[in-house]
Amino acid sequence: MIIDLSGKVLKSDKYAPVDINQALDHVIEECGEVIAAYGKMRRFGAASSNPELPESQRETNGDALLRELGDLWNTLVKLREFMDEI
Ligand SMILES: [Mg+2]
Repeated sequence: MIIDLSGKVLKSDKYAPVDINQALDHVIEECGEVIAAYGKMRRFGAASSNPELPESQRETNGDALLRELGDLWNTLVKLREFMDEI
């Protein structure tokens, strides 16, 4: 379960990795998402957002990058938990 600093539950354990290999796969997947978000921010600007999305789902490219960095951080925390079991 992923919880933000206010205590709000962000994600369930439904797709949580069950072993170190899945945890590492998840880290790599999130690395790709960070790279994609960084590329969009560099191409279109941090304050820009995807005009193809409905207004209610839009976020700025800068916010998207921060969100993806947070996702990456959470996968690293999970990977660390599996590494501590070794
Ligand atoms: Mg992500």
